[in-house]
Amino acid sequence: KLKTRFAPSPSGLLHLGNVRTALFNALLARRSQGIFLLRIEDTDQERSAEEYVEALMEDLRWLGLGWQEGPEVEGEVGPYRQSQREPIYRAYFQRLEAEELAYPCFCSPEDLERVRKRQLAAGQAPRYPGTCARLAPEEVERKLAAGLKPTLRFRVPLLATVEFEDLVRGPQRFATGDIGDFIIRRADGSPAFFFSNALDDALMGVTHVLRGEDHLTNTPRQILLLQALGLPVPRYGHIAMIVGNDGAPLSKRHGSRSVRELRETGYLPEALCNYLARLGHHYEDTDFLDLDALAAKFDLNRLGRAPARFDLQQLHHWQREALAHQDLDTFGQWLAPVVAQQVPADKYQEFVEAVRPNVVLPEDARHWATVLFGEELVLKEPVLPVIQEAGPTFFTQALVAVDSCGTDFKALTTQLKQTTGAKGKSLFLPLRAALTGELDGPELARLLPLLGTGRLRQRLQNCMH
Ligand code: GLU
Repeated sequence: KLKTRFAPSPSGLLHLGNVRTALFNALLARRSQGIFLLRIEDTDQERSAEEYVEALMEDLRWLGLGWQEGPEVEGEVGPYRQSQREPIYRAYFQRLEAEELAYPCFCSPEDLERVRKRQLAAGQAPRYPGTCARLAPEEVERKLAAGLKPTLRFRVPLLATVEFEDLVRGPQRFATGDIGDFIIRRADGSPAFFFSNALDDALMGVTHVLRGEDHLTNTPRQILLLQALGLPVPRYGHIAMIVGNDGAPLSKRHGSRSVRELRETGYLPEALCNYLARLGHHYEDTDFLDLDALAAKFDLNRLGRAPARFDLQQLHHWQREALAHQDLDTFGQWLAPVVAQQVPADKYQEFVEAVRPNVVLPEDARHWATVLFGEELVLKEPVLPVIQEAGPTFFTQALVAVDSCGTDFKALTTQLKQTTGAKGKSLFLPLRAALTGELDGPELARLLPLLGTGRLRQRLQNCMH
């Protein structure tokens, strides 16, 4: 059975990059009736925080990316938090040491830094030179007895190659000569990322790993480790990074925010999923799809190798689509927290209907609520020239039309057309400008009754001189 996983380190809020990784893994599992597993990689005590564990689980669930195995759901191969797996790691460290597949290293950070500098100066790629690889057992005993705290290094086989077929990037080949013996246990006894990440994938039965391209060079190390332990190696696929429109890694400056912030701003989970699923994965389909449909059409062969470009316009497109798929009541409830104070209860339904096509985020609705129900309307560029061009007579006639037709848009504009001779754009645009202070927006026919004759009169009078 196919099993994918998402393995975040809880050192911050989920952002678009890691949530897209979660989404791809969840879609792959779903399309194959497999399992999507969540594992919390919290071995770095200093940088991990419980609040981030809570937040990431909440965000994943909000997006609809629930897991079938993992924290709170549990399963047969837990615990699913690495901080609770110490005994498991210890057993494997012992085994690797007993089989001399790993050895204690007493080099200090200063020693290592000196070697690194020397290698760099000689134009070599820095890697561990094997200083402690052949220490005599007595020497190791002596150092341990002296209280030195060693790291544990994995002995990388010499003169071999590691080959694997990346699910996204195709055949990969690495010479082990380029990989120095690497640390699998830190001096404080905690497991290093390479180790716990690979071991847990194997022990948890993960078959497919989709993760960021930045992990590609870790993969040969992890494969060597699993092979040394005789454990199954999952298939890896390294997905291209997300970049901003300038090609630099995605950051706040490109309009990217944490999932939490996006949610608080009013983005809908369906919009984020439709957008992210298409960021680095090609769908023929341009329709709005639910998670099942996104999963059914998810195809590893359609994952792109080029960096995926973040585009806020595209996200807004999917936000509009997601809104269009809501029924009117849901839409109204979604807006309520931001507009209910301003919009009179008896006009709420009409308001929601009127602004719906013009709302991408709740703040847009707040804007229209202020335009329609705020006391003062400030007329600015580029609205003023439109009003000036129409001239005072136009607005005087408009006022006369309101007196005889009220808020009936059709009757009002028909009369105004007759009395002023204005038609088309030169009829509607100054009217809209005077009444809303904007050159576009919701249908005027819907706005007039919301404004009511009192406001209509007041706003037209403002433009009569
Ligand atoms: N905890 C790692 C990270 O957040 C997981 C990497 C992986 O997916 O293998 O980068």
